[in-house]
Parts: sequence; C-alpha cells; structure tokens
Amino acid sequence: MRKSAFILSAAALVALGACVTESAPREPDLFIAVREPDPPAPPRLPNPAPPAAATPAATTPAPNSQAFARVIDLGQGVSMLMGQGGNLGLLTGDDGLFLIDDQYATNAMANLAKVEELAGGKPRYLVNTHWHFDHAGGNEVFADAGATVFAHANVRKRLTGELQSVNRAGAVSAPSPEAAWPVVTFTAGVDFHLNGQTIRAIPAPQPTHTDGDVLIYFVEADVLHMGDTYMKDRYPFVDTGSGGTQMGFIETLGRALEIAGPGTKVIPGHGELATRADLQAAFDMHRGARAAVDALVKQGKTLQEAVAAKPLAQWTPRFMGPGGFISDDAYVTVIYNELKK
Ligand SMILES: [Zn+2]
Repeated sequence: MRKSAFILSAAALVALGACVTESAPREPDLFIAVREPDPPAPPRLPNPAPPAAATPAATTPAPNSQAFARVIDLGQGVSMLMGQGGNLGLLTGDDGLFLIDDQYATNAMANLAKVEELAGGKPRYLVNTHWHFDHAGGNEVFADAGATVFAHANVRKRLTGELQSVNRAGAVSAPSPEAAWPVVTFTAGVDFHLNGQTIRAIPAPQPTHTDGDVLIYFVEADVLHMGDTYMKDRYPFVDTGSGGTQMGFIETLGRALEIAGPGTKVIPGHGELATRADLQAAFDMHRGARAAVDALVKQGKTLQEAVAAKPLAQWTPRFMGPGGFISDDAYVTVIYNELKK
C-alpha cells in the first residue's frame, strides 16, 4: 500500500465538510485577475437555534487561509483533496509526491504542511491545470519547497504577464512573482512515470476555460482530473478574458469522453467527485445549449431577447445548483456573443 494508507487517516476526515468552500477572495491588488466561484450562500436551516449566550467569540480565519479539509482515496496512491479553491489531485509513493494544482497563495503554506503531515514529504512535481489564482496561486510556496512546476506554455505566459488576462470587470491581471512561474512548459502532451503510474498531461484540444487548460489522466489508477474544463453540475465559466471559448467546452468534454471509461473517477475543477456519465451529461448540455442559442441567433433575436427566451431551461435544474456562480443567463450571453463573432 506504500504511503497511500495515510489517505484514510482519521485526522484527514475529521473536518469533513466543515471548511469546504470555494470562495473567491477579495484581495484588492494581488488577485484582480479573474473572479472564480463567488462564495455560495450557506444553506439556510429552518428555525436556527439562537447562539448560546456563554459562547466565546470565535476568531474568524483570514479568507482562503485553510488547508484542504477532505481527502478522498481514489486508489493506487491517488487521492482528491477538497477545500478552499480548486480540487487538488495527489499521487504518493516511493518515487516522490506528484501534485495537481495548489489552490490559493493564501492557503499554500497550510496545504503544504498538511500534505507533509499526511504523506511524509513535500511534492516533487506539480502540474497546474490552468493559471487561475484558485488553482495555481500556491506555485511560489510549493516551488520554494522544492517542487518543479509544470504547465501549459500559456499558463506561464499569463503568470509572467506576457499574455494579459482581463477579468469580467475589465481589470488586467498583474504578473505573478517569478518564483511562481512554471519551470517546464509544454504545448503537446507530456507523460510522467512514477510510483507505478503513467500520468498523462493532455492539453485541451482548443481553448476552453482558458487558453492553457490541461487534463491529467492517471492511466493505471483510472483517474481523470479535468481542471476547470469541468465543474460538476454547474454551468461553465468561459474565461474569455483568458482566451476561453464555449466551443472549447464541447471539444474538451468530447476528448474527455474518449479518455474516460465507465469506471473512471473524474476529479472536477470544483465540486464533488464525478463519473463519465456526469461528463456525458455536461457534454450534452454544452452541445444542446449552443444549438438552442444558435437557433435564436438565426431567428435574428437580440441578446436581450435570446436571454429572455430562457433557452437553457431544460438544463438549469441540474446545472445551476449549489456552488455554481454562472447563471443560465450568463451562459446564454457567452454563447450568443461567441456565435455572433
Ligand atoms: Zn479556473
């Protein structure tokens, strides 16, 4: 079992759900780049009990400063780590630790300490699924701790500022510190071989969530990390300010369906562990949504008319659930604008 036994440790599971948020920080300067998932509203409980009078005031932790709270064992030393920011993937074993994504700059130290506590070492290899600050924000901390950071070439260009990214408010991203820049970049597929796993980093067939997305597939463990090209049961965030396209979601989900089999464990960029059937549902939604909006474009509808027609109504109950931050109207708008280009 090597070190994979750590995954089931009680300590790892204590905080189940307690700290699981995907909130975006509101740092004024450092992270002006892209607003990813805004914090979902906590579920409202009926008739909440009044707070006990004697309870001392709790100290509120700084935003996105918590280590991952959930560890999900996916077998063969691979696990999915869930907490604040994007979902992480971790492979443990005698050849060294391999990590997918590193969440925020603000919780990187906490995440690094927790990985060390659970796996007995620091990551040796780190791959970014894309450049966003809730997935690659910890690069500097992990690189300083000895990890070699790999990413699509466009991730490095966006972190250096060679490619500028514009967020939905029109703000241009600031470059990251040099220590955060990926050291090894690629534009075609790269295979890693360690701990008995073949790990394939597979660039998206065309710009999708951004122009630097990669899928990462553990062949033997049959685990596929999608980055933010897939968020479970949510409408997608097409980051057009980072080169993303809606057609890319169709192409990339199609590619993922070629990779995945019926038993593949799918790690979404955000949300719970998923299956190939979930990917199929998302693929069908993306394709159907494009066709529905295209029909309205061909009828000569304005954007306002297209949005008002609610062309995504059949998918909204599933894809606008808790944790999402893209509305049906926002997704229609993205598709409409792309079709009108
Ligand atoms: Zn993202």
